[in-house]
Amino acid sequence: MFRTTASYFPRIGLKREYKQNLESYWEKKISKEEFVSNMQEIQKHRLDVYSKSGLDYIVCNDFTYYDFMLDLSFMFGCIPERFSHIQDELDLYFAMARGDSKAQAQEMTKWFDTNYHYIVPEFDGHFELKNNTVLKNWLEDKKLGYDTTPVIIGPFTFISLGKINDNNKWLKPSQTKEFRSLLLNVAKQYNTLLIQLQENGVRRICFDEPAFVLDYDKSFLKDIFDAYEIVKKNIFLDITLNSYYESLSYFNEIIENINFDTLGLDFTFRENVENVIKFGLPKDKKLQIGLIGTRHPFKDNLNEAKQLIGLVQKKLSLSSDQMILSTAGPLMHLPVSLELENFDPKISNKLLFSKEKLQHLNLLKNILNGRSDYDFSDEQLEKDENYEETLLTIKKLNPKRAHPFKLRYIEQVKSLNLPKFPTTTIGSFPQTKELRQKRSQFISGKISESEYNQYINDQIKYIVKLQEDLGIDVLVHGEFERSDMVEFFAQKLEGFLCTKHGWVISYGSRAIRPPIIYGKVKRTKPMTIKEIVYAQSLTKKPLKGMLTGPITILNWSFTRPNVPKEVIAYEIALALKEEVMDLQKANIKIIQIDEPAFREGLPLKESKKKDYLEFASKIFRFVVEDVDKLTQIHTHMCYSEFDEIVNYIYEMDADCISIEASRSKGDIISSFEKFKYDHAIGLGVWDIHSPRVPSVEEMLEIAERSFMYIDKNLFWINPDCGLKTRKYEEVIPSLKNMIEAAKILRKKY
Ligand code: GLN
Ligand code: ZN
Repeated sequence: MFRTTASYFPRIGLKREYKQNLESYWEKKISKEEFVSNMQEIQKHRLDVYSKSGLDYIVCNDFTYYDFMLDLSFMFGCIPERFSHIQDELDLYFAMARGDSKAQAQEMTKWFDTNYHYIVPEFDGHFELKNNTVLKNWLEDKKLGYDTTPVIIGPFTFISLGKINDNNKWLKPSQTKEFRSLLLNVAKQYNTLLIQLQENGVRRICFDEPAFVLDYDKSFLKDIFDAYEIVKKNIFLDITLNSYYESLSYFNEIIENINFDTLGLDFTFRENVENVIKFGLPKDKKLQIGLIGTRHPFKDNLNEAKQLIGLVQKKLSLSSDQMILSTAGPLMHLPVSLELENFDPKISNKLLFSKEKLQHLNLLKNILNGRSDYDFSDEQLEKDENYEETLLTIKKLNPKRAHPFKLRYIEQVKSLNLPKFPTTTIGSFPQTKELRQKRSQFISGKISESEYNQYINDQIKYIVKLQEDLGIDVLVHGEFERSDMVEFFAQKLEGFLCTKHGWVISYGSRAIRPPIIYGKVKRTKPMTIKEIVYAQSLTKKPLKGMLTGPITILNWSFTRPNVPKEVIAYEIALALKEEVMDLQKANIKIIQIDEPAFREGLPLKESKKKDYLEFASKIFRFVVEDVDKLTQIHTHMCYSEFDEIVNYIYEMDADCISIEASRSKGDIISSFEKFKYDHAIGLGVWDIHSPRVPSVEEMLEIAERSFMYIDKNLFWINPDCGLKTRKYEEVIPSLKNMIEAAKILRKKY
């Protein structure tokens, strides 16, 4: 009989109960007891969903108060010294995630190629199983009548994704000599943990090792195998070794050298299917087949799934008892459920969120076990979209602006009448409480469209005047009409669906609502012209038009799994290209096209990176290739890891790119120097992620450090990102200092 399992059902809750509970606790609106009991309620509800959807193996320990990597750090005693003043366990746990008045939070970073962010473990070489929360979670479920399978991030992923301090520099463990000893030491603690689980009656455990899909050095394999020997010592639990987000690297070595019972693979990656057929599985092992996609909310084709499972079963001569059906990866990257949305049934028929994915998984099981007379013809109603032609068109594209940068830029600066070190901002100005109130009143129909538009125009008027008074050189309209830089465009373009409750946790209690691209993307009307042209009409200074780039819109939306991403990006790019040309027609001389998610889309496998980056820069060029010589194109990316991508940023051929520069005090420009970058760079001299007002001196320092690397005539001065989350009390003095810094630079150089 085929059986099923799945994990990481989204913890946010249908009505964001999780977020509310956390934030109320942090704001001290509820007691610790209330907080804990609310969390237990949410967890109970999850168990209920699992069990009602007919899962055979229900997991535990896939719920967390903040982050599952943080849970591991906490459980294994990886608690940095700077938190030693905190007694209360829960306070300590949250301080590690969020910092407190005395100690800085641990770093947070992107989890694989997802939009989830985890708390980076800090290692000092010592591990000690402090309190076994896995056991605690298992026992709680047991009390409720569930014999669950704990799922836990495995030792290789835990160590690989942490960092270790080496002479005051943080390094990845794999870059140091400590890697092996860290891995083996933590393996001992995992072993202790398993022994305790075993003694208490746990029968199965699942190790998630997503780091097994990365391109790590082959020499680490021995360390991994030795670590798993330690983990497994005297353990009789049934062990699943699971991986996802890509295909398992070193497939053959892993299956031969790690003593697992079940191998879990993400079958949405072809290489996994090919490998399992090529290498087979050691005798008596089971296969966990992850086929229900968790990176997109579309209905998976069960007919294809059935055929694929049949093929694998035959090739490997497995009995159905040896095959466990599962989701391709953790469910947490999808919203909770469709039940609160009211989409057009024609569209919602094609969609599945987490709860519905679980039902779909159950359906697949019933079909395979011969218990459902499901009609596959239903699945085929949707014809495969014809994108071959578009792929060919994309291949033939060779977008290029008519004039080289050097020539364009000199003339642009002249015609725009820009001073040396021009000052500007990244686009958004504070989104005040009042603004958000007006927006929600407008959405709920409490105020009319004209009243809302009038309010937005008043804001624009205010911000244009403010920028003029401050003496900024290139102005923006402030983005007051936009709730979110992707959702705003999604609402205006055809082919996109925006959800009301489709929240997905990005980190901690913070959630985002990615739009769903369900059909061909098309621009049916101008999207940004009205506000930008109005803003320009209020000033003689150049006003920068503001768009979100094709790659960012793509990467921050859900896309159909059966259409190549290039095709969707191309459709978005076509729409943006029309918008760019309309902005130019409306006499807008500078257009900024933000690509903060450019790097985020980098594939996990080295072998796929080049294609992605080449395409990403080409599609940007495609958006802007037809603009006039005198139209200045800007882009923006708000991070400072450029080594891998500078070359491709160069290929984007934007006239100016604004970046984060304050954390490295300007040294980031060395990455650009290496590639002889010679287009303009907007130096993000103010870290807008902190409420602090930066001084003139520190901004000068960043600028002058940057001048060591690249011709100073290429630099602009700006904050490192949009100001929408800041308050005017911080924005005004900071911008004043920024203008002052630019003035000093102009005098000096
Ligand atoms: N133009 C956007 C803003 O200013 C850019 C935001 C971003 O880079 N994340 O808000
Ligand atoms: Zn930014």
